[in-house]
Amino acid sequence: MGIRIVPKEELGQERLKEKGIGFIPPVLFPNLKSLYQRRAERLKELGAGEHPFADYLNFAAEVATAQHNAQHDNPLEVDMVSILERTTSPLDAKTFPRTTHWHKLLTAIIAELMPVVPESVRPALENLNKASETELEGMATALLNEEFEKVPADKSMFIWAALSVYWAQMAANIPGKARAEHGDHRHFCPVCNSMPVSSIVQIGTSQGLRYLHCNLCETEWHMVRVKCSNCEQTGKLNYWSLDDENAAVKAESCGDCGSYLKILYQEKEAKVEAVADDLASIILDARMEEEGFARSSINPFLFPGEK
Ligand SMILES: [Zn+2]
Ligand SMILES: [Zn+2]
Repeated sequence: MGIRIVPKEELGQERLKEKGIGFIPPVLFPNLKSLYQRRAERLKELGAGEHPFADYLNFAAEVATAQHNAQHDNPLEVDMVSILERTTSPLDAKTFPRTTHWHKLLTAIIAELMPVVPESVRPALENLNKASETELEGMATALLNEEFEKVPADKSMFIWAALSVYWAQMAANIPGKARAEHGDHRHFCPVCNSMPVSSIVQIGTSQGLRYLHCNLCETEWHMVRVKCSNCEQTGKLNYWSLDDENAAVKAESCGDCGSYLKILYQEKEAKVEAVADDLASIILDARMEEEGFARSSINPFLFPGEK
């Protein structure tokens, strides 16, 4: 994995490749103007009507809206070029030297949520508001190192929501002359090395291509279809859905490593969104667990909590 500034002499060649037939953009950086709003709208849509977890989907929609407003009101003030020149994987979730910018984002998210969340959620938000910088950094380090059990479950989602906006702002500000490249292990985000939420088969200019969506920096990276992202095997894949073959949400299970990842098909439902549709299809996760498969991805609204 890695992201780097492409030297000028290579840029010309890249443009030629882009114009060529069959060019596959390896990475799609997030567009923050619409990302969280689209997610909030989709969550509300999925949470309308008879959905058994409607309340939770609507709550998640409020968080996504708060994320949108927080990123809008607190723009990133860093020089991405100097950050990208540091190392080959400068935005790595585990090693990136964070600034306190994400504390501002967290404060903004909490302020947005306080008036709209259920009474039961408020104490967690109030506690987070009072947490010291050291406590916040401790929880962030634990989450980014995938030590989810070290962070109280009622706090981890909000910490992650702020960290995610921070990383998404950095990913969205990566200058056009930088390129993220695939590493050896395609299951992890080439920008921040975090895990995917789910994957999407796209329509439009990237018609028919499958991209994995990062659960931290919201970048999407290309991964060929009909191949397990977790172990790269192709021989024992199966596709599961709750209704029929035409379902827009399926789980791709791999008999070689025993894991599964959801695939969302834009051609079947143009509005599918990586986080929203993954969260709304939680019953499919329960089915997959019954079948003996383990989830190879994490949804930012469903953290494995404190044990
Ligand atoms: Zn990422
Ligand atoms: Zn596998």
